[in-house]
This record gives sequence, C-alpha cells and structure tokens, in this order.
Amino acid sequence: MTDPRTTVPDFPAGTILGYPRIGRRRELKRALEAHWSGAIDAEALERTAAELRRATRRRLAELGLGGADSSIPEAFSFYDQVHDAATAVGVLPARFDGFRESDGRIGLDAYFAAARGAGEDAPLEMTKWFDTNYHYLVPEIGPETVFALSHDRFSRQVAEATADGHVVRPVIVGPVTLLALSKPATGARSDFDPLERLDDLLPVYAELLRALRAAGADWVQLDEPALVSESLPASTDRLAQAASRAYAALGDAAGRPAILVAAGYGQLSEQAWRALAASPVEAIAIDLVRGAIPAAVDGLAGKTVVGGVVDGRNIWRGDLEAAWETLEALSGLGAGSVAAGTSTSLQHVPHDVADETELDPRLASWLAFADQKVAQVATLATGLTSGRDAIEDALAAASRALADRRSAPGVRDGAVRSRLAELGPDDFHRGAYEDRVSAQERRLDLPLLPTTTIGSFPQTGEIRRARARRARGELSAAEYETFLREEITRVVALQDELGLDVLVHGEPERNDMVQYFAEHLDGFAVTQNGWVQSYGSRATRPSILWGDVSRPAPITVAWSAFAQSLTDKPLKGMLTGPVTILAWSFVRDDQPLGETANQVALALRDEIADLEAAGIGVIQVDEPALRELLPLRRAQQPAYLEWSVGSFRLATAGAGAQTQVHTHLCYSEFDAVIDAIAALDADVTSIEAARSRGEVVDDIAASGFGAGIGPGVYDIHSPRVPSVREIEDLLQRAVDALPLRRVWVNPDCGLKTRGYDETVASLANLVTATQRVRARIGAGVPAGISA
Ligand code: GLN
Ligand code: ZN
Repeated sequence: MTDPRTTVPDFPAGTILGYPRIGRRRELKRALEAHWSGAIDAEALERTAAELRRATRRRLAELGLGGADSSIPEAFSFYDQVHDAATAVGVLPARFDGFRESDGRIGLDAYFAAARGAGEDAPLEMTKWFDTNYHYLVPEIGPETVFALSHDRFSRQVAEATADGHVVRPVIVGPVTLLALSKPATGARSDFDPLERLDDLLPVYAELLRALRAAGADWVQLDEPALVSESLPASTDRLAQAASRAYAALGDAAGRPAILVAAGYGQLSEQAWRALAASPVEAIAIDLVRGAIPAAVDGLAGKTVVGGVVDGRNIWRGDLEAAWETLEALSGLGAGSVAAGTSTSLQHVPHDVADETELDPRLASWLAFADQKVAQVATLATGLTSGRDAIEDALAAASRALADRRSAPGVRDGAVRSRLAELGPDDFHRGAYEDRVSAQERRLDLPLLPTTTIGSFPQTGEIRRARARRARGELSAAEYETFLREEITRVVALQDELGLDVLVHGEPERNDMVQYFAEHLDGFAVTQNGWVQSYGSRATRPSILWGDVSRPAPITVAWSAFAQSLTDKPLKGMLTGPVTILAWSFVRDDQPLGETANQVALALRDEIADLEAAGIGVIQVDEPALRELLPLRRAQQPAYLEWSVGSFRLATAGAGAQTQVHTHLCYSEFDAVIDAIAALDADVTSIEAARSRGEVVDDIAASGFGAGIGPGVYDIHSPRVPSVREIEDLLQRAVDALPLRRVWVNPDCGLKTRGYDETVASLANLVTATQRVRARIGAGVPAGISA
C-alpha cells in the first residue's frame, strides 16, 4: 500500500458519516438483551452482530455507495461509539478491572460491565450526545489513566468487510472529542481536565490508525463534533488548539490510513476550521445543514471537503436542489475536491420509509429515512462526477415532492394560523404569583410540605399486555377502558392509603409521554418501525410532526375526571409540554420551531381549559426536554429560551388563578436555564435532586427562585428503597435552604419504570419522613427556618 502522505487514496464523491446499527427490526436489541439475560452466549451475539454489519454493507452498496473508494462507513457499535473508542485505548474505570481478560484486554464482559454496572459498581454515567436524544457513556479519565490499545474490534471489522469484498472506512470518535466528553476519574483533583492528557493519548491513537491500515483501511473517519460545541467545559479556543496538536501528531504517524475528520452537529468553530485546514489530514467533513459554508482558508488545496448537505437528524426528503447548490458554492472554497455527505451520522433516523406500510402514501413521499438519505447522497455524488444534467430528474422529483408538501391539506390549517396570528402579550401572562398563591391555598387547603408524585405509576406487565391486546384488536375499546379504569381506581386508592396529598391517575393509558399526545393531535403521524437508538439496547419511536397542530377532541380529561371522582383529595392532571413534544418527535422543518411550539401550546391550552371545567384544580405540564434542546452555540441560546419559555406560558397562561400549574424537569443542571425555569412562571416546579444529594437546593436558593419547588427526595432511577432517615435528611436540607411554605415533597421522576414493591415501600417512607419533618417544624425545632 502506498503512503497516503505522498499519494492520497481516492475519496468518494459521496458518503454518509454513519448508519443505524440496531437493525431494521431491532435485531441487535434482542440479541443484546438475550445475551445479558444469559439466553445466548457471546459467540451467538457476535454472529448476530456480524450478520447485521454484513447486511448494512450490502444495503449501502445496493443504494449506491461502495466500490473501491471507502464510501461505506464501518460504524457498528454494541452499545455506544464513545465507549467503543474509550475502551479501544484502554479507558475503563478501575472498578471494572476485574472484568478485563487475563492479558488485560477489554473484551465484551468488561465492556458491558462498565456500560450497565455490575453489582455494587455503578455503570458509567450516561448523558446526551450533543443536542440529540442519543445518550453516550461518559468515560472517566484521571491523571493516572494508562492509555494502551485494549481491543482490536475496529481492525477486525475492517478485515471482516474486506473479506466480504467491501472497502470500508472505519469510524471512530476522535481523540479531542473523546477527552472533551470525559469526566475526571474518581480521585482526580476536582479541577483536573481530561484534555490535559492529550499528548499521552495521541501515540495510542497513532497505533490504532496503523492497525487499521494494516487490516486494509485506506481511510479512517475520526469524529470530532466537540469542535462545533460551545456547551462543553473546554473553550472553543482550547478545543481548536487541541485539534491542531492532535492532527499534527496523527498526520505524522507512519503507516496510517488517510484521515477524514468529521465535525457534524453544527457549525464548526472558525478556530477549529483553520486548525484542521492547516493540519496534514486529507479530508474534513462539515455540517452544512446547521452550519454555513466556512471562510476560504489556507491549506485546503490538497484536501477533500465533505459537505454535509443531507440532514442526518430529520426525516424529511428535503430540498435536494438547494443541497446541490450548496455543494456548488462549497466548490468556491478552493479545496482539492468536494464530496457530498450527511450532516451527521444517520444513527439518529430510522432505517427505511419502505418499512412504513401504514403511513399515508402522500406523507411517505415527503420522507427520507436513512436508506433514502443514502440514495440522496449517491445522487449528489453522481452530480459531482458527471455533472448536473445526470441528476436533473432526481432533483426535479425532489422539488416536486417538496412543492406537493407545501400545498398539501393539513400542512397549513387556516384556523390554527389565524388563532396564532391573533395572540397578544396577555395570552402569555397569568396574574400575579401572590394572588395565585392565595387563591390556590383557599381552594386546595394543603398541609405544609405537600406530598405528591410526578405522574406515572409502575407500567406493569399487565398494563403492557392489555395495550398490546388492544392494538391487536383482542380487547374491544370498551374492555380496554374498563381495564384502565380499574387500574386507575387501584392507583388512587393506593395513594389515599399511603397518605399522599396531591394524587395522580398514574398514566396507565400512555405508552409514552410524547407519543400518546401525538396520537391524539392532528398534524402528527406515528410510524410502525421508525425506531431510533436512544442508548444501548434502547430505542424510541419518535412521531412525525408534519402539519399544523390542533386538538380534535379532549385527550386526558376523561381519565383525570374519573380519577378525581374517586377521591376528595386534589387530583393532578398530567400533560406533556410543547418543548418536550417537539424534542422527542421528528418536527417539520418548513417553519421556525417556535411557531410549531406555539401550535402545540394552543392545543394544550384547550386541554387545560377542559381539565379546569372538569373540576381539576392542579395541572402539571412536564418539560423534561427544556434543557436538552438548548443550542450548542451560545449566540443562539437567548432566542431558543425565548420561544421555548413562551410556548410553555402560552400553554398554561389561560389557567385561572385558583388552578395550580406544576411543571416537572428531569435534571438538576440548572446552569444555563435557571432564569428560564423561573420565567416559566409555574406555581410549582419539581426537579431531579435525589442523585446529587440535594446539592441543587443551594443553587435554587441562591438564584432567588421564589415559587413552589419540589426537589426530588427519592431517586427513582434505581430499584433501591430510600430509608425514612435518608429522605428526612434531604427534605430537611431543602427546608433549611428554601422558603418553608414553598417546599414540596416528591420522587425525582415518574415511577413507570419501577416495580410496585419498591414503589410502595419508598412512598410510605416518603410520607413518614414528611410527617417527621412537619412534626419537628410544628414543635419549633430546628430554629432558623425561613418562612
Ligand atoms: N409525568 C411523567 C411521568 O411521570 C414525567 C416523565 C418524565 O419526566 N420524563 O412519567
Ligand atoms: Zn422526570
């Protein structure tokens, strides 16, 4: 093989940055879960994985990638791509050392132990991958972490592909992003920054690159999305400097393949763009869907620039003509060559529109899932090699589909549009908080430190089976309704017995907090097979928000009203907020998100009015995704917070003063969003705090947040039953820091993933702990409570 530093192997005219890996029918999920439960051994799991990889390569070749030019990415993962890269270079917390193979290498046992936890040893933390709903495993790196090649999966996959006759380009998270996404290992000094270890890590990456080349790879793709983010601990400058150092060193590595650095998920920072252009890497992939064409800079003449013009994150067929024009404009930069690409890996979209036999065919003709996007890239590549005439028909067909979508009934609904146009500032404001508090106190008559839950009760096997039988038509609508009413009756009685103060109906009718609403709103469609990996073996099936949103009929009112009829205590109605509905769906791309959010908000506003009319006095609007959608670039954050907060207020501001509006947020990183949370103007906000041992209450107190607040006192993310003492301590901490009359007592999230035994025991302890703290306060102990 030639040295790529003198002769660069051909780069394809089109490629994708990654492809879904869970399988068209979630085959990998099934195999993984069977392996974890002991039903199949590691060899059987490996066989399934190899078959999936083979099917992927074959499919990509069929769709027009392939040939001798490394256009097929080899981007498989058993669990997570960050964990794959970390373990390849030996990064595994010491607590899992016992799972390494006898020669110290990291096999599947150690890999899964760290991903899922083992006994007392907590798994790696999971967090969202940039601003997507995919979660990666956070590597733990300290000053002492030893970097060493510790598995050869990447090379073996290249060899496997080569043996099958494919030329593939292995895809690996790059060294800068790997370190930038890591957290300090236990025991490291608190200001330790894993990026300090870059120089120690690079020789191991160089070795990895050599191994890939030896296995037959002409090209490697190193993913560096950290270079687009302004939301990481490291500054843009520091990241760009790290990139410059890293790619100078890797560029120099003898015996390496040619390097494509891929920086999807947004606009590459100018500093990083200059650094990469000046580096010896052979190709750079940039996101031209979220980002703009960068400035012409020195160093591009010998490089390929891959223009990410096909959106890797949404499911729209999109404007292929505009994509083509962007590629043409990109040619103006003076790069050695330009290639067509996706803006990110396609791991964020489902496999194939052809698998959706129940979608309206007209809607289906506007969509592009992974396979359709691959075909688009192949089309653009043909255009680049053979000229625009060669793809004129395909461009015209895409434009016709786009025009059809623009004019289709339902995409624009006059009634929805005029209602939005007539909104004024008053529609976004409730009355003064103090007036609301007194009206609500009179109406609800709650004790000090009111107890409640976040909404869902355990989704038992029985509930899931009943839902499946209803879907298959084995249960009639009436039988299913009876089943749900019995379930609600049981859950309400249980809460009454436990002595909770504000009850819920338990959400047994909901498969998912977003999909349930999508199924009941106009403007949404749901898919049969549109699964997208969320983390590990878990996948979600986002709904498609394609048209103007409206509510043909009340959605939750009958369930809440029925539950309220069973108890004298206040029953809390339960809705999902506009931002979360958008965040966890595939959203139309033909108007600003804020406009779509306001349409959803109006539908929710009507639902709230109907709940009020049905006698419901407490209504919770969940917004767990508020933080997740926060743009990676700071300049875009204020505008986001403005529309997201606005849509929540539009949804809730129609509620009367005597209606208590709650919201629930699933995290406790308040940094950038604390002001926004206050601006939601909810009467009560519940947050996650149990896992951070209540530390967040000090931040809340310091921020001057003055409304009702329920810092979670029971961590529902684990089956552990918290003791009375533990809950009492957390509650006392909240009571000491926050205005006493504003404190609520609740678990830190919904209970749907828990079992009944632990739920009942935990809630009983929660009520007892609350009674103890109330008694202490009543007796005047301890002093220093602010009221
Ligand atoms: N009300 C929802 C539930 O209890 C909230 C879930 C969430 O915050 N993700 O399940
Ligand atoms: Zn939650």
